[in-house]
Amino acid sequence: MPLQMVPVLSKADIAKKVSTLAQRISKDYAHKEVVAVGILKGSFIFLADLVRELTIPVQIDFVRLASYGSDTASSGKVQLTKEIELDLRNRHVLVVEDIVDSGMTIAYLLDHLRQFHPESVKVCAFIDKTERREVEIPIDYVGHVVDHGFLVGYGLDFDDKYRALPEIFHLRQ
Ligand code: 5GP
Ligand code: MG
Repeated sequence: MPLQMVPVLSKADIAKKVSTLAQRISKDYAHKEVVAVGILKGSFIFLADLVRELTIPVQIDFVRLASYGSDTASSGKVQLTKEIELDLRNRHVLVVEDIVDSGMTIAYLLDHLRQFHPESVKVCAFIDKTERREVEIPIDYVGHVVDHGFLVGYGLDFDDKYRALPEIFHLRQ
């Protein structure tokens, strides 16, 4: 059966959600500086949109985390293949993720960040996919909640394809 692409969020939907998140974050961090740490590769588009709408000073860094498993389910084994480069000591860190599924990636990163002694750490995920959560992790800012399904577009890939699509789709067989 060919793959079906079912629309989930349009460009306008995405823009509205990003603005709302940026306003909340700017308000919560008023008079503070934040270090946005994006998880590569999926978060790069969301992070780029989000930081341009923040009204607080922001520095930007990335980690690359990969979880190996089947194409559409994470294995829970997380590997860090690119380390943080900024000094996070006494900084307010905002982890920026495309989508949280099992929660293993964020759990790994939150644990990993502790060695750098940040002042605070919060998590912003554009999509919270709830059905397969395995570890309870705090997600402070969520753009959109879905129950299940494999999503592509707006940074999200399938086999490294579809990342550049400006909308988000549910990929279905
Ligand atoms: P975790 O299961 O550790 O919470 O999520 C691991 C990673 O799997 C996410 O960072 C994301 O890259 C990927 N992932 C989880 N759900 C989806 C999805 O629906 N679509 C895509 N393209 N990637 C996903
Ligand atoms: Mg990811």
